[in-house]
Amino acid sequence: MKVKTVGTGSISVKERSACCLIDEKILVDCGNGIVKTLLEQNVDVNKIDTLLITHLHGDHFADIPFLIMQRNFCPAENELNIFCPIGTEENVGKIFSLLYSDTSDWTISRDRAKINFVEFDSLDNKEVTNGYFVDSYLVDHGNFKPAYGFVITNGEKRVGVSGDSTYCENIDKIVESSDISILDMSFIESGAKHMGVNDIKRLVEKYNKKIIGTHMSYASRQFVLDNNIGGIIIPNDGDVFEV
Ligand SMILES: [Zn+2]
Repeated sequence: MKVKTVGTGSISVKERSACCLIDEKILVDCGNGIVKTLLEQNVDVNKIDTLLITHLHGDHFADIPFLIMQRNFCPAENELNIFCPIGTEENVGKIFSLLYSDTSDWTISRDRAKINFVEFDSLDNKEVTNGYFVDSYLVDHGNFKPAYGFVITNGEKRVGVSGDSTYCENIDKIVESSDISILDMSFIESGAKHMGVNDIKRLVEKYNKKIIGTHMSYASRQFVLDNNIGGIIIPNDGDVFEV
């Protein structure tokens, strides 16, 4: 599997919103600015046939209306299935209708884009696209609920994604069952809603697995680089990792 770290930043840094792309067809999260970022990174947006949404914060789902618009302007042959928390479709509909108030019925644009919303409260070894299976894990994003992490399996390979979360037991399960994990590393020290470098360092030492930081602030990114903390991979936007 090939994992592209499309965006690696938190809201207040120049890096784009946390987002990754697996094998050019499974996108995890689609926050503010991600459609333009994909185009900048020469990704064939129409090849993406699956979008997994971790939770309904704007830096993780706000660009779905622009994905719909993109697929209206540049029609795709394939359908795009969006696996997302319950309530996503209604929220996207409201946002789309506000952004394009000249559209009488947003579902016309949704259907023209060949987009299906598949809302879930749990995914259990769900085949989301040919040969790719997803398990969802509830994670702990403070008072924001629900928030999910995922493990994506293709053959013998597994990629874990934490979404936004402070440390909780399900983070262990994601890391333990994955060959490589992309984890929220917003802070230097763990916070109420996000993990810190201290959490990620502990997980690297415990499991001896590859862990990539994401959702990084300038402080957490620089702290790992300055202190030469081995085992934590600090990606740039657009980097590609072979699993
Ligand atoms: Zn969040």
